[in-house]
Amino acid sequence: MLIKCSCGNDEFKAHIGLTGDIIVNGQNNWIGQCGGHTDNNSIYGSSKPFGPYICTVCKKEYDDLEELMERSRCQFCGRFVVKGEDTCPMCLFLNMDICIMCGGKFSIGNTGNELGFCIDCQKSPDFPYDLKKYYEDHDAGLVGFKGFDTMERGILEDYRR
Ligand SMILES: [Zn+2]
Ligand SMILES: [Zn+2]
Ligand SMILES: [Zn+2]
Repeated sequence: MLIKCSCGNDEFKAHIGLTGDIIVNGQNNWIGQCGGHTDNNSIYGSSKPFGPYICTVCKKEYDDLEELMERSRCQFCGRFVVKGEDTCPMCLFLNMDICIMCGGKFSIGNTGNELGFCIDCQKSPDFPYDLKKYYEDHDAGLVGFKGFDTMERGILEDYRR
């Protein structure tokens, strides 16, 4: 994943811990640098670069490049997810979905069902279908289909109150 500054540039000035070849005395005190102070070749990076990071083009500063990772948000809880995904692992685990009737969020088998309705809608006095009867028929093998598009397929029309 390419991490870019808001200006589109992907190169940053960063910091690194530097190590040089130096001359020490018998007491391990630094008394000089190999090749003299002008020889930069004897100094090399010995750690992972760290921030703050400054864009080499627009000079914008970032404490952490992670904050520039392209991310999306989970449609259910708003947690960050990998770009291109719309549901976080926790919401996948909880079987979260969106109610066909009210647009609210629910968890299949917990606060809603696999037909796409949340319990609130299902319990509402003006819920148009007799789901209990539908489930009874489904269990009895009289209705073959059970899924989010059960209503769209018109299967529930037989169970309209
Ligand atoms: Zn920039
Ligand atoms: Zn989520
Ligand atoms: Zn609902």
